[in-house]
Formats: sequence, C-alpha cells, structure tokens
Amino acid sequence: MIIAIDGPSGAGKSTLGKMLAKSQNLLYLDTGAMYRAVGLAVLDANVSFEDKARVAEIAENARIELVGEPENLQVFLDGTDVSAEIRNTQVGQAASIVSTISEVRRILVEHQRAIGETAKNGAVLDGRDIGSVVFTSADLKFFVTAKPEARARRRYEEDLEKGRSTSYEQTFAEINERDERDVSRADSPLLIAEDAVVIDTSEMDLTEVFEQMMQIVQEKGAKATVNLT
Ligand code: C5P
Repeated sequence: MIIAIDGPSGAGKSTLGKMLAKSQNLLYLDTGAMYRAVGLAVLDANVSFEDKARVAEIAENARIELVGEPENLQVFLDGTDVSAEIRNTQVGQAASIVSTISEVRRILVEHQRAIGETAKNGAVLDGRDIGSVVFTSADLKFFVTAKPEARARRRYEEDLEKGRSTSYEQTFAEINERDERDVSRADSPLLIAEDAVVIDTSEMDLTEVFEQMMQIVQEKGAKATVNLT
C-alpha cells in the first residue's frame, strides 16, 4: 500500500501522514526532510546554489537516514542527527532552492522509490511530487491544502511550540516564497495529480481531516479485498 500526500507548506501533510502511517502500520517517509538535509549539506559545504554540478554531487554523496517511529522521526545526515537543524528557515529556503535542480530530484526520487518499494507493509510519503512523479500509481493520493493565512498560522504556532523564534509575518512570507518556487519550477512542480483526493484543511482541525482520510483509506482497503476474492 502506497499512500501519497502532496500539498503546499503548512497544510498539515506531515501530521496527517504520521497519523495515517501509524494507524495503518505503514512506514512514514518525509521527503521534504530529504531535500532539507541536502540543503543543509550544501550550506555546510559553503557551496554556491548556482553551482548545480557541485550541489548534485553533494546530494549524491550525502548519507541521509530517517530513523524511528513516525511521531519521533529522526533525520541523520552523514551520521549526525540533524532533526532540529533542518527545520530552521534558512535550511527550508536552501531545500526549496536545491529542489529546483533536476539532478538533485533524480537522486532523491530514486531513494524515495527504493524506500517505498521495500517497506514491509507499504508507506505513506509526504511531499510535493509523490502522486505526480514518485509513485504515479500510488494506491491513494491526497492533495492536502489550505488558505495561505491558515497555513502560515499553523506553521507559526508549530514554530512557537518548538521554541523557534519567528513572527507570523515572517512565516507567511517564507512559506509563500517556497510555495511560489515549488509551483513554478520546471521539473516536478507542485500540482494536483489527476486522481488525487483534494482536502482543504483551512476550516478543519487535523483530527477531523484525519477521520475523513481514514474513511477513504478504509473504503480503498475494502475494495481491494473484494477484488481479491
Ligand atoms: O515539506 P517541507 O516543507 O519540509 O519541504 C522542504 C522543501 O523541499 C519544500 O519547500 C520543497 O521545495 C522541497 N520538496 C520538494 N519535493 C518534495 C518534498 C519537498 O521539492 N517531494
């Protein structure tokens, strides 16, 4: 079972993805964390984002590992725990820039497919291009979105809770900039896959959204059982 969750920043994808993965006993793969790890590796190496060949080389050689249960997933870059560091704004912007480089995408998509295909019971992957590129034949595709103000508010509250210093205005500007880059890039832009179920989380709390998604997952599971018998 492969479940794809795509959508813009702050729509609730990762919270929902983790909840779904846990309830269905599936692996959870935060593909954004992989782009963030590459972004951090480029910053650490002091390499210009303009030097696409060097950036791709860094992506190729970076050892990115996602370890642990969905609710406390840890991200390691070359053996170092970078789970907290990759969440800062600078790394978010770096991730968004490196993600426009086709060679970087090719390298990470290859990893993502390998991880999804070998996961014991299947996987929930969250990102921007999962349903449209990485797993075009995913069993289920969700496109989770919300109004920009609601997404900025959610991300801002999350940052406050985690003790990261920011303001609502700064968060709003930052996620809009990343979203704009994601929808306008030439390679694998953020888009709604034809067969995706679109969920707008602006006016709903995530528990309600999760229940809606669970119902769709269960219907899908029931259909698969009927087809098998
Ligand atoms: O999901 P998250 O906000 O952590 O992702 C960081 C950045 O990585 C996004 O802004 C986007 O540019 C990029 N990304 C991507 N494709 C994915 C996941 C993330 O381009 N599948």
